[in-house]
Amino acid sequence: MQEFCSFSLNSLKSWLEQSGEKSFRAPQIFDWIYNKGATSFEEMTNLSKPLREKLAASFRFPALKLIRTLESEDGETIKYLWELADGQRVESVLIMSGTRRTVCVSSQVGCPARCAFCASGREGLIRNLSTAEIVEQVLHIDRTLKVKGERVSHIVYMGMGEPMENYDAVMESIYLFNDPNAFHISQRRITVSTVGVVEGIERLAKEELAVNLVLSLHAPNQHLRKKIIPYARKYALEEILMAMDRYALETKRDITYEYTLLAGINDRSQHAEELTRLLSGKQCTVNLIPYNPVEGLNLRRPTKEAIEGFRDILVSAGITTTWRYTKGKDIAAACGQLAVQKREPLALVSPV
Ligand code: SF4
Repeated sequence: MQEFCSFSLNSLKSWLEQSGEKSFRAPQIFDWIYNKGATSFEEMTNLSKPLREKLAASFRFPALKLIRTLESEDGETIKYLWELADGQRVESVLIMSGTRRTVCVSSQVGCPARCAFCASGREGLIRNLSTAEIVEQVLHIDRTLKVKGERVSHIVYMGMGEPMENYDAVMESIYLFNDPNAFHISQRRITVSTVGVVEGIERLAKEELAVNLVLSLHAPNQHLRKKIIPYARKYALEEILMAMDRYALETKRDITYEYTLLAGINDRSQHAEELTRLLSGKQCTVNLIPYNPVEGLNLRRPTKEAIEGFRDILVSAGITTTWRYTKGKDIAAACGQLAVQKREPLALVSPV
């Protein structure tokens, strides 16, 4: 049985035609699933009974089961834990900020990048998520928002996993998020975060969609970066930065570099100075994320003074720099934190 939410509108039209049905039924079915909140094909009353039965016999929907939700103290962040058909679990986070309703989605179970500061990477990659397993994270959250007259407005691929290592499913999900017949979320409101898979960045630049791209940089040179992101051994930092530059040029999108600050490892003034040289002349933003301590990892968050000193060096060099702590309202900024929360059911908020 195929998962319904892995189908694009065109692939559903083809399926209908091959099943002896009219292709104009496809937008009607999409409307039921993505706008009217249907939870079964039986509810689709403008379709014939035989077609409804055919759909129910051919497609699995839903592909995710909600296990639990957890709300942050400030009420601005809700974490969702999902169970997949094979019993694996992934998480998503809804961040409510002003009128923005951002969903941080997972793209894999586990992660191949094995970043030193992240629990997701400790066990490596378990498996890729299907398109439906990515899409339904947003679909189910969108349905809960609709009850309040709201919709998901932004999507960030910053949950568990390296999106570029599950490229096809991630792209199919992005096309569905952007499709006016489904979620109709603007390309400018969709952000993909990567540790730097060069082939993926180059493929993304050739897509018809121009989404925002974030590189998890975390170090100003290859030597240190390999220690923080073991996966970084695969690509030279210069090669990754060139691919990012080409992406910015071809898509006219600004690039963001995320830099998790780890005390005594990558937070010294010489690191900041090296970073300014590395990013000199680039149209970009650096997002500083002070490390959020994780039990079992022998890493520390830098002092406020060290963070401010690091930021000041970047700003003095003319680099646009933002600085965010990981707490309820901005939890999505901390790539990899979701897996930690999975093992610690009550620890959503990490107060500064
Ligand atoms: S921080 Fe992100 S890329 Fe790195 S291991 Fe964790 S989930 Fe993967």
